[in-house]
Amino acid sequence: MPSSKRLILVCNDDGIFSPGISALADVAKKFGDVAVVAPDRQQSAVGHSITIMDPLRTTSFELKNGLVGQAVNGTPADCVKLAHDQILDRKPDLVLSGINHGSNAGINIIYSGTVSAATEGTILGYPSIAVSCTEFDEKADLQGCMEAAERAIQFVFENGLPKGITLNVNAPPGPLKGLKWTRQAESRYTDEYEARVDPHKRPYYWITGRLEILDQSEDLDINVLREGLGSISPIQYDLTAYSVFSALSSMEI
Ligand code: MN
Repeated sequence: MPSSKRLILVCNDDGIFSPGISALADVAKKFGDVAVVAPDRQQSAVGHSITIMDPLRTTSFELKNGLVGQAVNGTPADCVKLAHDQILDRKPDLVLSGINHGSNAGINIIYSGTVSAATEGTILGYPSIAVSCTEFDEKADLQGCMEAAERAIQFVFENGLPKGITLNVNAPPGPLKGLKWTRQAESRYTDEYEARVDPHKRPYYWITGRLEILDQSEDLDINVLREGLGSISPIQYDLTAYSVFSALSSMEI
C-alpha cells in the first residue's frame, strides 16, 4: 500500500559518512519518511557539476544515526537527479541538503555542492532547503543548525515556496540565538593560493583564501552570522540579470 506520509529526500556534499547528514536526517524524521541519497565521498565545492562520462552506481550505507541510505559515486546534484528519476518510489515533498560542515554564505553559495543539491531539488520542482554550519570541525555542536533547519522546514510546509526559489540556511555551532532573513553578501576570496615547492623541486599551489566582504549592510548573510545569529536567504538559479535586461534588449545588437 502506498504510504501517505510525507517523503523527505536528504543529500549533502560532505559524503554520506558525515555527522551533518545524520543530524539533518534526524530533523527530517520529525516530518515524515526519510530517504538519504548522498555522495560516497567528500564532494565539497564541486558546485552544480554532474557526471556525464561515467556510470553512476549506488551502495546501501548505514549512516552514523543507524539510518540506511544510498551512497552514490557522483556529485550532490547527481544524487538528487538520480533519486528523483530512479531511486525513490514516490515523489519527495521536500529536498534537504546538509548539514554542511562549513559556511555556505556569500560567494561560497556559488561553489557549494551542498547548495547545488538543494538547487537541483528546486529545478526538479520540489521545495528545497540547504543547511550549513559555520564551523568546519565535524565535531561541532549542530543543535542550533538542527533547530534552524526545523524552523525552515516548518515554514516551508506551512507557507510553501515560490517557484524557482531555494532556501539557504546557515547557523553557528551551539544553541541558536535567532534566525534572520538575509541576502547573499557580495564577497570574494583574496590571497587565494599558497605557493610551495615539492621534493622534486617543482612548484605547487594550495588554495587558502580570505573572504573579503564588499558590502557592510546589516541584512547580509555573512554579517548576521558574524553577530552569532542564524541566517536564512531565498536564492534562485535563474542567473538572468533582470536589472539590465530591459535596457539591453531595447538596444541594437
Ligand atoms: Mn561540504
